[in-house]
Amino acid sequence: MARGRCHPHALLLLLLAAALAGAPPGGLYSPGDPLVLLQVDTLESSVLNSSSAWLVEFYASWCGHCVHFAPTWRALAADIQEWSPAVNVAVVDCADIANQKTCGKFGITGFPTLKFFKAFSKSPEDGTKIFHPGDSIQNLRQSIITNLEMHKETWPPACPPLEPASVEEIRGFFQTNNVTYLALIFETNESFLGREVTLDMLQYENVAVRRVLSSEEELVKKYGVTAFPSSFLLINNGTFSRIPVQMEARSFYTHFLQRLPGVTRGPYMPTRAPDTPIKTTPIPRKPADRSKVYMADLESALHYALRVEVARFSVLTGERVRALKDFVAVLAKYFPGRPFVQNFLRSVDRWLRNVRGSRIPYSALKLVLTNRKEGQAPAVLSNNVTWVGCQGSEPHFRGYPCSLWTLFHLLTVQATRHRRLGTDPLEVLGAMRGYVQSFFGCRECAQHFEGMAAESMDKVRSVDEAALWLWSRHNRVNARLAGTETEDPQFPKLQWPPPELCHPCHSVVKRRQVWDEAAVLQFLKAYFSPINIFLNYTEPETALVVRRSREAKEGAGEWAMGVGMEVGGSERRGFSGPRKPSIVRMNPKMQELEEDIVDLDSFSELHYKSKALKAAAVAANKGRQLSKRDTIPLLLADDSHQAFDYAAAWERLRQRGLGSKQLIGALEEDEGDTLRRSHWFRMLGVGFSRLDVSLCIILYFLSSMCLLGMYTFFRMRTRHRKGRPSFPTA
Ligand code: FAD
Repeated sequence: MARGRCHPHALLLLLLAAALAGAPPGGLYSPGDPLVLLQVDTLESSVLNSSSAWLVEFYASWCGHCVHFAPTWRALAADIQEWSPAVNVAVVDCADIANQKTCGKFGITGFPTLKFFKAFSKSPEDGTKIFHPGDSIQNLRQSIITNLEMHKETWPPACPPLEPASVEEIRGFFQTNNVTYLALIFETNESFLGREVTLDMLQYENVAVRRVLSSEEELVKKYGVTAFPSSFLLINNGTFSRIPVQMEARSFYTHFLQRLPGVTRGPYMPTRAPDTPIKTTPIPRKPADRSKVYMADLESALHYALRVEVARFSVLTGERVRALKDFVAVLAKYFPGRPFVQNFLRSVDRWLRNVRGSRIPYSALKLVLTNRKEGQAPAVLSNNVTWVGCQGSEPHFRGYPCSLWTLFHLLTVQATRHRRLGTDPLEVLGAMRGYVQSFFGCRECAQHFEGMAAESMDKVRSVDEAALWLWSRHNRVNARLAGTETEDPQFPKLQWPPPELCHPCHSVVKRRQVWDEAAVLQFLKAYFSPINIFLNYTEPETALVVRRSREAKEGAGEWAMGVGMEVGGSERRGFSGPRKPSIVRMNPKMQELEEDIVDLDSFSELHYKSKALKAAAVAANKGRQLSKRDTIPLLLADDSHQAFDYAAAWERLRQRGLGSKQLIGALEEDEGDTLRRSHWFRMLGVGFSRLDVSLCIILYFLSSMCLLGMYTFFRMRTRHRKGRPSFPTA
């Protein structure tokens, strides 16, 4: 190989790459893979101002298409290992909380995104997106070559020339290059073979490779070339011969050339990662019941959607603004959240509704998503990401997409409870379609979903049909993905709900398994009802408010980035609330259950509200001992009172043939026990303003005066009558 092309920086780069390869495992890839694992502290320093080009895959470990694509990327990296130090292949896991900001800086909005950075790139914006048609290694390889050729004055020092050779260059080649062999690959203009072999031989010394186009008639004639591709070996003693290979193909040429006498590998080392054992702290499994929905998953989905997915766009414009407004409006209307979360969603919705124009800088939205207005009702959404029902057996399984499906189903089902005349049946579906199209990071998932939506969503005529539409489309996705790499072996992609969750949903017609859609709808309404949402592992609102207040003082900036993300198995601030008994399973009595559930919205509202009242009352007592600088009510971290065991109460009442009204009564009784003690304080301090209380006192005073007046009037009239002449007198 021509030595003049080698660069000392290349060696340093390789050493760096080798060191980086030993970095902690990045989600879908491990240090054993033949690529460089980059992260927040190494991405910029490796890719920018580098003497080699870089091809980086920005991925999210939860993204199904990234999981599908990982074997291709790994295989590509292995395939072009010899091309370093001209070009390096790397990965960054943007789902890793530590990397999210950096991925934003590199303009990553969807996954997987492949970016090519030319040698000596100056800024993150210099990366060029590479389309990866059909996930084929060959296309990707060719795309790398095309991008390498785009280098003009800043040609990577370690990269040999890729342009076709001319007659003059070949004529004086051995005079200007200190090598024994020159391989000429004759090919047509479109062929990449010559360039691929050139790069394959880049690390070998004493041999050079040049491509010669079929249009270079003088050379074609001189060597008697009759077929393209074909190759000739020229030796510096003036002799030449056809390269004897069984097939005119890359691997045959490379194999032959690497084994020529006197040809040796240069000082470069492939960027193969040392086989260091992967150190991962397993995330402890949280026991979860498949018949339940977990608030921790839902709140994590909200946080990730609004503060991570939307945050990838530094400015929201046009369609994205509309999509966000619709999505948040639906969340504010239907999400059966804890009171502070509902306050949060309503405040974001109010803010978005007041935005004029079709341009929102995320920096402005971020203030609303992280802000807690002083003196107002606490509005906080946790920034913890805690998967419970959506926890996978490995970190890259399940998680966010699972929670997003759960959130979407919950919203469609909630809309069936709020049905009003004239309600748009597509309100929720339309909002989630907009969200998926505009923000969902797994871009190919979004495209598939859009395909299904375009095909049939507009045929939905009622809110019930909307819930069923989403259920059936989700099952289609499950069927498509069953048995693929994205399937968590411990959570196979079944047609859902399976018989053990809902037996009546499955019928047999003419010996064929069919769905009973009426039963499915009933099941969905029960499964995604507020009563089936469990608070295990959620951070108590009380503690959350205190934490938020403290972090706001320390600098709220990082709040949005999810400081509480689960990494390396350390369970953060999650609260393992008392387990509540499983309640909703489809059974023949589902009809009765369903009728009873109709009133559950008011139940859930009362349940959450009373908890907030209770917390506020406790806070008022405790708050006095706490810092006066905390302007929001400081609430107790102790959550021992938090859970009224509504599931158990429900079950008890159902067994006694009673329904939701009695359950609400039971709840009031339970809350009453605690609240009665501070009844007057609650009346005066929480539910009513001072004006309300003053008016009450004035009204009370006026009505007493009125009663006194009436009493005096009747007394005087009686006396007066007694004094009249017609009255018998003694
Ligand atoms: P999920 O399919 O995520 O289901 C989550 C939970 O919902 C289940 O645990 C179950 O309780 C419940 N559930 C399951 N099925 C139904 C149903 N039919 N109705 C109601 N509830 C149900 N990945 C890809 O690889 N390719 C894609 O094209 C793709 N498209 C997607 C499109 C969207 C809009 C979303 C949100 C995700 C998509 N994904 C895609 C991700 C994929 O569907 C799964 O979410 C992911 O693989 C995690 O699977 P899971 O086993 O946790 O179950």
